[in-house]
Amino acid sequence: MYERYVMADRQLGAGMFQVNDDDEIHAFNRQWVFFSVALLANMVDRLVGLLGPVAKRQIYEAGFSSGKIAGDRMRQYFGGGIDQIKQHLDLIKNMGWGRVKDIQYDQSSGKIVIDFHRTWEAAGFGEVHPGEKQKAATCILCAGLYAGAASGAFEKTYEAEEVLCVSKGDPVCRFEFTPAGEIKKVLK
Ligand SMILES: [Zn+2]
Repeated sequence: MYERYVMADRQLGAGMFQVNDDDEIHAFNRQWVFFSVALLANMVDRLVGLLGPVAKRQIYEAGFSSGKIAGDRMRQYFGGGIDQIKQHLDLIKNMGWGRVKDIQYDQSSGKIVIDFHRTWEAAGFGEVHPGEKQKAATCILCAGLYAGAASGAFEKTYEAEEVLCVSKGDPVCRFEFTPAGEIKKVLK
């Protein structure tokens, strides 16, 4: 006899995600699936373990191109700019992908700083490596995804760096987003 797990009485993604007649999940004219955080953290961890910084850059770019699609498609719903970023983050929260603690935006430089209580990627690393502190920030896919989302929202290329990470023992996962060309950044 299986115990049935029922989600809280809340619609997924504030009703923006719909299950169609083929039992596929769709939102923003795209199909979606849901993975455990451990699966994605395991993939990232194994690729980085095997290939080091090369894998980090590729995982970041994979996140970026996916996030860019989201950011581009959301402009018609959320209107672009920092308001879109805020609505996107609300959507992320509503999907259970992580709650934001703080967001700062400097209009003159275009710089955005976002603190997550803990990203799903850090949660996944915590499951894969219980009780271990990582030397470097682990939320590579998130960094790419949100840089891509910001690039779509602002229609200019953003780069992300995770400067604090729960996986390292920091209190939050903090991402700094800078318009490309403003600073030179290296993934450690
Ligand atoms: Zn992190």
